[in-house]
Amino acid sequence: MSQQMGTAPEKTPRGAISIKNVTKIYDPDGARVLAVDNCCMEVEAGEFCVIVGPSGCGKTTLLNAIAGFHGISEGEICLDGELLCSGGHQARPGSDRIVVFQNGALFPWFTVLENVTFGPVMQGVMHKKEAEEKALHMMGQMGLKNIARNYPSEISSGMRRRVEIARAMMNDPRVLLLDEPFRAMDALTKTVVHQFLLDVYDKNKTTVFFITHDLDEAIFLGSKVYIMTTRPATIKKILHVGLPRPRDFRILASPEYQRLRDECIAAVHEEAVKAFKAGEREM
Ligand code: ADP
Ligand code: MG
Repeated sequence: MSQQMGTAPEKTPRGAISIKNVTKIYDPDGARVLAVDNCCMEVEAGEFCVIVGPSGCGKTTLLNAIAGFHGISEGEICLDGELLCSGGHQARPGSDRIVVFQNGALFPWFTVLENVTFGPVMQGVMHKKEAEEKALHMMGQMGLKNIARNYPSEISSGMRRRVEIARAMMNDPRVLLLDEPFRAMDALTKTVVHQFLLDVYDKNKTTVFFITHDLDEAIFLGSKVYIMTTRPATIKKILHVGLPRPRDFRILASPEYQRLRDECIAAVHEEAVKAFKAGEREM
């Protein structure tokens, strides 16, 4: 972990997620909703995996099951070959699977540094001083050191999202789970946070499970883009994004990028039309 943000890590890639025949039925007051149906996915260790699909198709449901926020009805999910959850067994949330949410979740009464060090100190994984040293070192490499003493309300939304990613990386997670983290951002801010996340990924090769509606974001960031069907969710198509890394915005002008984009749009559009006809609302 000491070399986490510096040179390329030499550790074995971790964070392989195996989703096997997963079905999730919500049953609030008998109103049975089949959200995920017999879904199978194999995410390799160190993969930047992006999930796209129509609103309400079941993306967050899958992510929440991996995070341990709720259980699944059938099937199983394994992490690095070990059973994480199954039909009868819900995963526990853990620091090996950190979630970065759309709406952000920094403690407003803590400084940025206190936010970043809070988790490992609270869990007793690190002493305060050790956590601060590590956080400041990491934040220095992430270009965040000069805001360490600021409060979240004093920094921009793009900066806050970067801090959240830094906070997640403090735990050296096996998997970084991101649920439409940049959804509400303007295009300009998005380009900055995209580059930030790509840098973090290039340096750490942590497995990323990233949900988005934004197809450009999906292709720009991802190694594979999993296009989901309209609810109940299954995988409709896997797009292998062979664009070289490190990536920067110039790749958006390449013919290969355009080809991938066209392919992605065709598949997503078909599902979006189905979802629209089925009367799904924007969530
Ligand atoms: P997505 O993230 O792809 O937009 P979700 O995974 O949030 O979709 O939801 C999938 C489906 O499950 C939706 O139809 C949604 O209404 C339903 N759903 C999600 N959470 C619940 C819940 N707690 N109770 C009942 N239905 C739910
Ligand atoms: Mg969602």
